[in-house]
Amino acid sequence: MPEMFESARKRLESAARKLDLHDDVMEILNYPKETLSSTLEVRMDDGSMKSFKAWRCRYNDALGPTKGGIRFHPASCMEEVMTLAFWMTMKCAVVGLPFGGGKGAVQVDTKKLSPKELERLSRQFIQNYARFIGPDRDIPAPDMYTNGIVIAWMVDQYARMTDGLSPAVITGKPIPLGGSLGREDATGRGAYYVLRKLEDRLDIDPKNTRVAFQGFGNAAYHCAQLLYDDGFTIVGVSDSSGAIYDADGMDPEKILAHKKKEGSVLGAPTNGKAEEIDGVDLLTCDCDVLAPAALEDQITSENAGAIQARVVLELANGPTSFDADDALLERGIVCIPDILANAGGVTVSYFEWVQNRAGDYWAAEKVRDRLKEKMETEAENVWQIKEEHDVGLRGAAYVHALRRLNAAISARGTREYFNGD
Ligand code: NAD
Repeated sequence: MPEMFESARKRLESAARKLDLHDDVMEILNYPKETLSSTLEVRMDDGSMKSFKAWRCRYNDALGPTKGGIRFHPASCMEEVMTLAFWMTMKCAVVGLPFGGGKGAVQVDTKKLSPKELERLSRQFIQNYARFIGPDRDIPAPDMYTNGIVIAWMVDQYARMTDGLSPAVITGKPIPLGGSLGREDATGRGAYYVLRKLEDRLDIDPKNTRVAFQGFGNAAYHCAQLLYDDGFTIVGVSDSSGAIYDADGMDPEKILAHKKKEGSVLGAPTNGKAEEIDGVDLLTCDCDVLAPAALEDQITSENAGAIQARVVLELANGPTSFDADDALLERGIVCIPDILANAGGVTVSYFEWVQNRAGDYWAAEKVRDRLKEKMETEAENVWQIKEEHDVGLRGAAYVHALRRLNAAISARGTREYFNGD
């Protein structure tokens, strides 16, 4: 796992070389601002006490309070939390949100907990971190295995501890507790807006474009549905049980209905005769756009040479390894990076925070319009930087983020300023 953080830093250094950054900026961005490691002591249903490792990292707050989800996962560790918090710093900067980057995790297998144990664990997280988070300091959100009810327990626990409901302390809340309309489909919708904005440059014509999704969950389903409605052909989908491929295409609505009933995409109805393939083979299937939407490190130097897609649309966080970046670039495959492609989620989280603070709640249409405007503007900005610096879109997105961070960090004074240079 330490390689994950090193690999994130390599991307930072490579983008920094394209810019005239102040030394102070790299000095600050090379390390997380603060990471609080703690132990959650939780009373189990059988009366015993169990301890769970937990972390919350505020990577950088130059642009505003830190923002990022809380993950409950048995493989979580501090390096993973730091890397995800670093990516959040870059993502918020790419889309110009007044937020820095943060992330949290608890090392736990939630499938082994009863609902009451899960509630105690979620409340204990806030018990340990109430002084670390706050609407103007650090704003958590859901991530893997932290759904709406977990967030509801957390907001409630924060209210008990601070003697008043502060909905802006956590985003991704259920609607009755101050959640935003349009958060559910925001990540898939944001990626859809980015792809459609860039389609002419990418020589994409919906009628002739075949798309495959690795991991048919929340982000993938909403993106697939919007593309399908516009005439794209969805040729492949996968989940943890395997993958299906049909050159004649499939209707995402029917795949979702089947997955909800059977717990898997395998056996779902498609337009022609579906082929069941191995999950890893979906990444190299015959398609025009490949959308990894599940896990980290899926496209690596080992399989990058076999990718058939012309465009990779990164819905997942970190699905392409640092080593695979150059291999894709050399083969002319355009990768729309995670820090741009999946930023729709944090953008609507920002809208939720704004609504909570104003006490004024928006219609779904307003959320969608504001999201579209934001994603299209920043996709255009990133494309212009790509042309200007002759780099890939990932390099361009990092340059875009670094310019904003450079301006905010330098505005507080630099070595040149203090030396009177
Ligand atoms: P989700 O839990 O709804 O869906 C994940 C899907 O991936 C599930 O269908 C699961 O079966 C599948 N999966 C798991 N292991 C797999 C494997 N080995 N091969 C193929 N599929 C596998 O999660 P989500 O919210 O859609 O998030 C997916 C990715 O998008 C994650 O990387 C997440 O960090 C990222 N992301 C999500 C959001 C969001 O708002 N949902 C925002 C930003 C980034």
